[in-house]
Amino acid sequence: MSDGHRVIPIIASSFERRKATRLDASVVSRDGLLGPVQDTLGRPITDLRISVIDQCNLRCGYCMPKEVFTKDYPFLPREALLSFEEIEKLVAAFIPLGVRKLRITGGEPLLRKSVEELIARLAQLRTSDDQPLEIALTTNGLLLEQKAAVLKAAGLKRVTVSLDALDTNLFRELAGVDYGEPAQVLSGVAAARALGLETKVNMVVQKGVNDHQILPMARAFRDSGDTLRFIEFMDVGNANQWRLDQVVSAHEILEKLRSAFSFRPVDRAKKHDVAERFVYDDMPVEFGVIASITRPFCSNCSRARISSEGLLYTCLFANTGTDLRTVIRSGPETDELTAIVRNIWSLREDRYSEIRNTLTNASGSGQRPKVEMSYIGG
Ligand code: SAM
Ligand code: SF4
Ligand code: SF4
Repeated sequence: MSDGHRVIPIIASSFERRKATRLDASVVSRDGLLGPVQDTLGRPITDLRISVIDQCNLRCGYCMPKEVFTKDYPFLPREALLSFEEIEKLVAAFIPLGVRKLRITGGEPLLRKSVEELIARLAQLRTSDDQPLEIALTTNGLLLEQKAAVLKAAGLKRVTVSLDALDTNLFRELAGVDYGEPAQVLSGVAAARALGLETKVNMVVQKGVNDHQILPMARAFRDSGDTLRFIEFMDVGNANQWRLDQVVSAHEILEKLRSAFSFRPVDRAKKHDVAERFVYDDMPVEFGVIASITRPFCSNCSRARISSEGLLYTCLFANTGTDLRTVIRSGPETDELTAIVRNIWSLREDRYSEIRNTLTNASGSGQRPKVEMSYIGG
């Protein structure tokens, strides 16, 4: 148990390593609260996204442009990454606050050695009402076919695969590499589905770049039965030089789909789901749009994110995080960690997407510094 007086150092942002604060665990736990936490806007914390590696085998221009993420890029050394034991301890600390869903991400999470061992550990944890955690993984799919069986055996329930084009040349151009095939990714999706994993496919749509793939992608995943989700290109990080005129809006995506298919909306499965869902009229297959830019959903945002070196971010567009790795390496009890996270979440005010236009100019240029997607994990 906590001794109630231990002072735990927290470096507020090792991302920019600018600020340092000290939190006193006795102060943050003095409210004596138990159970789920809410932030200043009444939002709970239900989902935790954990980046397990900052490296990737692709160089998607919107995430890790190859001009920035060169072979000399200073990726984190192995000892800087949270160990599986540390991740497990952190997750256990988040559970009393209301977390039920975990997403393992990256960089490319399938590059993290023995990631299935981490999943097996996390699959043993139970929510506050004694349910298993819902564990999902987001991957670019290149290694999925060979890893699907061990991931499933470890306790993975869902996999989201990112794929932005079915055309091989465009796939490579978007991925910034001269290898890999969409067919390889599709085989990974098929292998996961055949094993009984719930599969989703994410497509980030960029104007004049891959918007002509909207209909071919919709057809392919209507036929396979996988849920395809079209994602508006977001201004995450600063490396991708995002501009508003590169975004294809959810409205435009739906108009394009209406030119070929008939479909109707279905209710969001859960209040905190980010995707607007639709089902085709002539077959029971769903698709979705995630309109972070044109229809922000900050008021329902219940996600926390932990970077691969253990910084906690309460918004995808944050520029500072809280260094939980330093905390965890100082050997706290789980309830001390829980108290610290409770304090951070209870002070949360983030609603970047709702106030984007007041923070950037209309074109989206002139942005403030933000954490990169490959570091925080999406
Ligand atoms: N490497 C894995 C993958 O690509 O699925 C996991 C990490 S990746 C950062 C997670 C998700 O973020 C992917 O679906 C990717 O398409 C999405 N993403 C990255 N940068 C984005 C951006 N600027 N706008 C929208 N989505 C983005
Ligand atoms: Fe890698 Fe995923 Fe980022 Fe593409 S989106 S560069 S696959 S981390
Ligand atoms: Fe959540 Fe931040 Fe995205 Fe709003 S902008 S939905 S607060 S991650």
